[in-house]
Amino acid sequence: MNKRDDNTNDYDVLIVGGGPAGASAAIRLAVAGARVLVAEQKKFPRAKLCGEFISPECLAHFAELGVLEQMSAAGGARVSTTDFYTRGGRKVSVPSAWFGQGARMVNAQADGNATGAQPDALGLSRAEMDQRLLLRARAVGVEVLEEAQGCGLIIEDKRVRGVELQRDGATISLRAPVTIDATGRARALARRVERARRDEDAHANGHAVRGRAPLVAFKAHLSDVQLAAGACEIYFYRGGYGGLSRVENGLSNLCFIVSARDVRARHSDAERVLREVVLTNRRAAETLVAARVRSEWLAVALESFGRWRLVPAKGLLTVGDSAAFIDPFTGSGMLMALESGALAAEVITRAWPTLRATSDFNALAADYRAHYRARFAARLRVCSLLRRAAFAPAPLMTAAALALNASTRVRRAMARATRSVVKPTELGEH
Ligand SMILES: Cc1cc2nc3c(=O)[nH]c(=O)nc-3n(C[C@H](O)[C@H](O)[C@H](O)COP(=O)(O)OP(=O)(O)OC[C@H]3O[C@@H](n4cnc5c(N)ncnc54)[C@H](O)[C@@H]3O)c2cc1C
Repeated sequence: MNKRDDNTNDYDVLIVGGGPAGASAAIRLAVAGARVLVAEQKKFPRAKLCGEFISPECLAHFAELGVLEQMSAAGGARVSTTDFYTRGGRKVSVPSAWFGQGARMVNAQADGNATGAQPDALGLSRAEMDQRLLLRARAVGVEVLEEAQGCGLIIEDKRVRGVELQRDGATISLRAPVTIDATGRARALARRVERARRDEDAHANGHAVRGRAPLVAFKAHLSDVQLAAGACEIYFYRGGYGGLSRVENGLSNLCFIVSARDVRARHSDAERVLREVVLTNRRAAETLVAARVRSEWLAVALESFGRWRLVPAKGLLTVGDSAAFIDPFTGSGMLMALESGALAAEVITRAWPTLRATSDFNALAADYRAHYRARFAARLRVCSLLRRAAFAPAPLMTAAALALNASTRVRRAMARATRSVVKPTELGEH
């Protein structure tokens, strides 16, 4: 991309939100020669509510982004298996290797060991991971403004021409031909467009699903858990599920989702919710019997899953959770964030000559929609079906566990289907 020859724009691309989606897009665009600014409302490093299970395919993105070494050196834990436990303690195991298409090589590279490395997942806090990505963005020339909140859009002729940021009590207006909403589930910019249009139906193409009952997620770092090295455990219980995996500094991350009704009934007391809801899962009660809480509890309300508008207005794209929120227990949200950030960067770079010459945003928008659909639609559908199963009553869940344990092939195909397009024959063959 050509620099500094369009005087009306401050940047080529403005990105609001400095999580994995925003950072992935920013790094790739800057490396391709674009003038990029990332505005992030928080000061990094910051804790973030998340299962902190970084699936093996993310490592290939880290390698492409130039942060694999930094991530490997951050003291995180290898996760080789995820064990799903029904309430009564029945277990279904999914090795990380089943997810990690193409990750074997980068794991080997991270080990300095070309043979025998397993494509493991990584347990690392979001404070550490997100910080490393944002530092890398700065290093490749992205201008990063922390403690800068996207609070408005510059809209002219129904087209987004830039953003307004709040920083240090002042409002900054910045212009660019492309703006990216990478604000996660907040969808801070996309919501503004929807509001501006008085668009009552914010969901894209009717695919998004409002939660049946609002859910609340909690997270804290714990010590003294009885969790085997290399294991991530997922516990199902009435109205939700939780995940436990090791992160850096000898701690483990516990993140769980419960129904808002259960939370209200316990006066929003996280430890009471843990004791009275999560620990009804037999395995969770065993693993967490001596656990001690070592951080603040974080909590967020979860209202909906599914897809949103990819192009809420000309000039504006969504990436990561702003584009689609995939079910957390699949442990693939960060992968989708990194991947959709990469896709947005690829599409913008490809469209740049046309955009500069004609200012026409339509081709870019169509390209982004088509590639996004091809890459993510199938996995979002599979995950939405699995979500229904995840909230199923205990006897059904036990039956599902028995069925899954009967076929390694089906378990493997389902694990892969949460990541990529799965061939129907893979699910059908035994
Ligand atoms: C309970 C739960 C558990 C999960 N567990 C996992 C897991 O184990 N593995 C996994 O892969 N995924 C998991 N996910 C999903 C994962 O957290 C998300 O998919 C991922 O964080 C999305 O990245 P993102 O960059 O799109 O958004 P985010 O990570 O949410 O980043 C958005 C950034 O934008 C900033 N921001 C927001 N509003 C503004 C504004 N107005 N101006 C400026 N900045 C703003 C925020 O501060 C934030 O830093 C989980 C999600 C939940 C809810």
